[in-house]
Amino acid sequence: MPNYKIAVLSGDGIGPEVMIEARRVMAVIEKKFALTFSCTDANVGGIAIDVDGKALPEATIQICRDSDAILFGSVGGPKWETLPPNEQPERGALLPLRKHFGLFANLRPGICYPQLTHASPVRPDLVVGGFNMLCIRELTGGLYFGQPKYTREENGEPVAVDTMVYKRSEIERIAHVAFRAAQGRRKKVTSIDKANVLENSVLWRKTVIEIAKQYPDVALNHLYVDNAAMQLIKAPKDFDVMLAENLFGDILSDEMGAIAGSIGMLPSASLGNAKPGGLYFGLFEPGGGSAPDIAGKGIANPLAQILSVAMMLRYALGETAAADVIEAAVQKVIQAGLRTGDIWSEGTKKLSTAEMGAAVAEAI
Ligand code: NAD
Repeated sequence: MPNYKIAVLSGDGIGPEVMIEARRVMAVIEKKFALTFSCTDANVGGIAIDVDGKALPEATIQICRDSDAILFGSVGGPKWETLPPNEQPERGALLPLRKHFGLFANLRPGICYPQLTHASPVRPDLVVGGFNMLCIRELTGGLYFGQPKYTREENGEPVAVDTMVYKRSEIERIAHVAFRAAQGRRKKVTSIDKANVLENSVLWRKTVIEIAKQYPDVALNHLYVDNAAMQLIKAPKDFDVMLAENLFGDILSDEMGAIAGSIGMLPSASLGNAKPGGLYFGLFEPGGGSAPDIAGKGIANPLAQILSVAMMLRYALGETAAADVIEAAVQKVIQAGLRTGDIWSEGTKKLSTAEMGAAVAEAI
């Protein structure tokens, strides 16, 4: 019977509340699929600052290193916002975790369920029947990491410099992730760039076109980033896999999350290099943050955290059938009219965090 070692980093705010529900679902999966999870809890973010003196303690890194995957909650909150930026929960934990484990590929599904189109701010006739896209964002290159990076006085005024750098190999590896993902979906990749202005984008487009030749079953098209921002709102159903570099992907994936409806529904995965057999080491987490405004009230939507477990099963553990079952169970509870407050509408039944977790476990 396979035994998977999972580092569980619940973090702050609603993190621990929704993680309890993810664990409840994992317990049901263990029984149904004859597999076991050996979970080790570790501190991260604000709780780690309070207990261990820093947002990402060495002991937590070690536990992650010894695991098959990292299941992450969320970090941060008002209590730690006055700390120096580099010591704050998000910057002090998430960015170093990504860097430490070389998690260069961020996968964010943007799913608007047919029953939840009312939660989308897009014109109803454009999202009729819902939509299902996947944003693949390069996570460790580009403008966020390029050197030099500074602000200094020049000729009597401050000048700020950020540098956008991509190596061909960095574009190749993220393109492979996108094409492989598309093969398991509707077989379409939309690559985002600004090749009419940026040298980086010229190399990006050229490289993506070359990699596409290895995936003749996948259709490739290109959009300039400004047009992509418009098309997401005008024709969200046209997108299958959207591939973007770090900055463009950061902005467009948030837009995609917003048009999908509630952030409480959206999981994400940050993956490193593919291992032999096509699986990845990765960090799996909800798309939203620690939601301090609703923390402790038992009303947070646990579905993003539960769907993060499904992504972990699919991408890190190769347990595709178990991932499918969780995703189907989430659809089933939505279909049955069960809702947490963030997605509730007239005529549906409002549940607490724990009741929603139990409903998904029951549906499995
Ligand atoms: P947020 O995502 O925490 O909250 C934004 C809004 O969405 C809030 O109204 C919140 O109640 C709602 N929301 C989020 N998740 C929800 C859920 N599961 N169910 C129902 N409603 C949900 O973003 P924010 O308010 O900008 O940030 C709050 C804190 O979270 C900050 O400290 C920020 O640094 C941190 N943060 C952490 C991560 C992370 O850990 N990856 C990501 C984003 C923000």
